[in-house]
Amino acid sequence: MRFALESLFKRIDDLRDDVVSLTQDLVRIPTVNPPGDAYTPCAELMGERLRKAGFDVVYERGVGTPGDSDKHPRTNIVARIQGSRPGPCVHFNGHIDVVEPGEGWTKDPYGAELEDGKIYGRGTCDMKGGIASAMVAVEAILQEGLDFPGAIEISGTVDEETGGYGGVAYLAEKGFFSRPRVDHVIIPEPLNVDRVCIGHRGVWWAEVKTHGHIAHGSMPFLGDCAVRHMGAFLNALETELYPALENRHTEMPVVPEGAKQSTLNIASMHGGLPDNFNGLPSSLVPDLCSMILDRRFLIEEPLDQVKGEILAILDRLTKTRDGFRYDVRDIMEFEPTLTDENAPVVRAVAEEIERQFGRPAETICSPGTYDQKHIFRIGQLKDCIAYGPGILDLAHQPDEYIEVDAMVTSMKVMASATLKLLNENA
Ligand SMILES: [Zn+2]
Repeated sequence: MRFALESLFKRIDDLRDDVVSLTQDLVRIPTVNPPGDAYTPCAELMGERLRKAGFDVVYERGVGTPGDSDKHPRTNIVARIQGSRPGPCVHFNGHIDVVEPGEGWTKDPYGAELEDGKIYGRGTCDMKGGIASAMVAVEAILQEGLDFPGAIEISGTVDEETGGYGGVAYLAEKGFFSRPRVDHVIIPEPLNVDRVCIGHRGVWWAEVKTHGHIAHGSMPFLGDCAVRHMGAFLNALETELYPALENRHTEMPVVPEGAKQSTLNIASMHGGLPDNFNGLPSSLVPDLCSMILDRRFLIEEPLDQVKGEILAILDRLTKTRDGFRYDVRDIMEFEPTLTDENAPVVRAVAEEIERQFGRPAETICSPGTYDQKHIFRIGQLKDCIAYGPGILDLAHQPDEYIEVDAMVTSMKVMASATLKLLNENA
């Protein structure tokens, strides 16, 4: 096995240019989400290449999922190759969607320029570089002619950036992420090449609205200002909830340090005249104010407590503040996930990281969620991690890049861990 690995690693070094050009090809297809552009050509690029490498390839459109239409089909690709005899299945899953480029780029966001060992572009790090690394790592195993039991799967899925409903969640509902089809899942998200990510915090998105009563702005006493009611709620968050959250710490190894506690982001707030208003305002007392909350919670916090403490503040204001009326709309909620540190996929990847770097792998959790939640909850598959090249902090930033060296190292870790996982339970 050791001898076979030396030769495999040599081949992976030789495939350096190949993984660069595959990453560039993927990045040059602008799969921006929302709205979900160019999913089909991107999925087909993966599918055609994997079919040539010997995989059976299926395309699964997330029909009827949010955003799916003939103009923007939610096209997923799943590829599978069988080994020489029965055994477990290792699955690599990556999301093909990227967030919009935004402002501040000095490079072409879809140019995929290679400069000083880095490829620049939207989605290089999050996470087309990771997808390309997984694909070429598995191709290297096949090119070496290494005999393996079980099966290897690679999927490219959509909509991770908007909740994953048309992607991993859709496929998980159809059994693509459950035993006996799949045993171990590695998601090559950019979490740094020497770390294993075993889970993430929970998330609750909600919209809070306060209601008032419209009146002429010169006689506000005849109305009831919804923005002032929201101000009272905001004040309670500042004085009560924020200090409480700062004191709640998790045992989960979340990075960065600031995310080891419970957090709340006020993602937007709106009341009165429309956004970007520039003209003469009409003289009105706003009768509606809305706020979007992005609450990230810890595995130690039950979701009903997370919601309950916000509802308790709103209920108290209803009792103590004249005219206070509110609604809360749940937008999205996902529980935290945490894979056992001794799970096979964690051990296999951590061992190879240690061999590559000469020091133990760091075990971490992600501050934000990713598709692992659907694999856990819908697929009921707990042997799942995120591991891949790319620096977490660069995701969604201008001049996002991926280092080619990190991709090559991650390919060695992924290839070696795959062989270990396939052989140890066969
Ligand atoms: Zn990602």
